[in-house]
Amino acid sequence: MPVRKAVRAGPVGFDLDLTLIDSRPAIMAAWRALSADTGVPIDLDQVDSRMGIKLEDEVGYWYPAGQQQAAVAGFRRHYVVLASQLTTALPGAAEAIAAVRRAGQRAVIVTAKHQVSVGPSLAAAGLSADEIYCHVHGAEKAAVLARIGAAAYVGDTPADMAAAGQAGVPAIGVPTGSFDAAALSAAGASVLLASLTEFPSWYAGFLRSPDT
Ligand SMILES: [Mg+2]
Repeated sequence: MPVRKAVRAGPVGFDLDLTLIDSRPAIMAAWRALSADTGVPIDLDQVDSRMGIKLEDEVGYWYPAGQQQAAVAGFRRHYVVLASQLTTALPGAAEAIAAVRRAGQRAVIVTAKHQVSVGPSLAAAGLSADEIYCHVHGAEKAAVLARIGAAAYVGDTPADMAAAGQAGVPAIGVPTGSFDAAALSAAGASVLLASLTEFPSWYAGFLRSPDT
């Protein structure tokens, strides 16, 4: 009897913020601290509604061009400290990464976060990845996914779903961030999971199913 080889082989890409980790408390605390430092009022609900974009782009909503570089640096100074205190793993994150590794594949983080913020966040959450691509969003994420030959991309934002679609890989949506299942669906999610706790059983079926 021929051995059935795993199909859909390839690394699985994961977004980081609000997909693998609950970074919201640290992000909001860092914005509060930056607002206090600079005297610039920042509406945290608006920040929350855009979670997933690069810090540089969010800063652009609040600070004029000449102050943006300093604001980014100020935010990160607070964030690296707060992230190590306030970041937790989202339910199922460790198990999702473990499921990918058990299948002999690499779990790869593809995130808009800057490298300096990723380390303390992962350490606090007790997670690790096999490869990490930082400071990419939208079409830049799609380019990474295509380059590494990703089998799928898991994310919490419409932009993540679109990036996967652009790369031609299945978009796996988890509504654990600022966007609900309907928004992820509308952005082209191929699969919707309630959270990463559902990832291992979905992934097992995915590996068994024929390539299309
Ligand atoms: Mg995210």
